[in-house]
Amino acid sequence: MNIHEYQGKQVLKQYGVSVPEGHVAFSPEEAVKAAKELGSDVVVVKAQIHAGGRGKAGGVKLAKNLDEVREYAKELLGKVLVTHQTGPEGKEVKRLYIEAGSNIEKEYYLGLVLDRETSLVNLMGSEEGGMDIEEVAANTPERIFYEAIDPVVGLTGFQARRMAFNMNIPAKLVNKAAKLMLGLYQAYVEKDAAIVEINPLVVTGDGQVVALDAKFNFDANALYRHQDIMEMRDYDEEDAKEIEASKYDLSYISLDGNIGCMVNGAGLAMATMDTINYYGGSPANFLDVGGGATAEKVTEAFKIILSDKNVKGIFVNIFGGIMKCDIIAEGVIQAAKEVSLEVPLVVRLEGTNVEIGKKLLNESGLNIVAAGTMADGAKQIVELVG
Ligand code: ADP
Ligand code: MG
Repeated sequence: MNIHEYQGKQVLKQYGVSVPEGHVAFSPEEAVKAAKELGSDVVVVKAQIHAGGRGKAGGVKLAKNLDEVREYAKELLGKVLVTHQTGPEGKEVKRLYIEAGSNIEKEYYLGLVLDRETSLVNLMGSEEGGMDIEEVAANTPERIFYEAIDPVVGLTGFQARRMAFNMNIPAKLVNKAAKLMLGLYQAYVEKDAAIVEINPLVVTGDGQVVALDAKFNFDANALYRHQDIMEMRDYDEEDAKEIEASKYDLSYISLDGNIGCMVNGAGLAMATMDTINYYGGSPANFLDVGGGATAEKVTEAFKIILSDKNVKGIFVNIFGGIMKCDIIAEGVIQAAKEVSLEVPLVVRLEGTNVEIGKKLLNESGLNIVAAGTMADGAKQIVELVG
């Protein structure tokens, strides 16, 4: 789960990480009020969306007086911001962060991420801050430094100082930077984060080391023990279909193709998507209805697929093991009754109770194309969708 920059900074503050003063605002009036409270000469108006690259896309504005704050707030609220992380459809700005302007001397990059190969959290740092770290990693990987962190010992002061030296933080600020890194690591561990990125970390004219941006991603499996983080969830930033699916405990990921897939088992779901691609089609989603799904759950899954306006056809590919084919058939029929089915439907059933499942579908009056194999089904749905 992701949170907004201003929420990330609230978390960082609890761990002693320096961040500029700021207030969230939902309207131009609130933005002006927030700027007045800050009383800073220069105020930054920052669009809050769950994506980076806002600066380059015009989502971060420097305002020199309250009129400019109002103007920028009006301009940004309701605007669809397209950054290199949002995809071409962009994201609508619904909240702003009004923050005191920092007197930036230099920008750096700092991050914590779990390295799955070594199963260790890695501290990452670079002198190349403020820009796309993926680009730095691709073009000048030697400019990124790493410290692998022992989970028992935690990040040590020595490692943090070595990182600060590697990043070329001015010598007199190394201890401040190291202290910030230790706070960042503590936040990462205690809040069960998966990624924390400070890009940029800055050194200011008056000798402070400040986190100017904050990106947090939390391990969804640990959210149950972080009520405070859960309250920061912004449903506006998430795919409505994925939220609906999570209510029914379905593994559903929205994709940008036009063939809806209902499959059981993550492996079969991946294979189904590959097969659709092989025949020249493009899946609209990943969906694993799981092992012990009930007819109600299957009905909801089918309705979620149908609610996607891009879906021009559906492929149901089930291998009944624990999941029984007749349950799937019941769910499909129930959903088709509740929501009118206007797109072609190809069904391939195999395994437990397959005969009952096929019989139910045959007698349902639904316009179903039966497929013998996964390849046959994928081919047929791609042809039907055109
Ligand atoms: P994004 O990563 O989405 O582009 P950032 O928060 O990193 O957004 O802001 C982009 C740039 O805007 C920063 O690299 C920095 O140069 C500038 N900036 C951001 N916040 C402030 C601030 N409080 N004071 C001065 N400049 C800022
Ligand atoms: Mg940034």
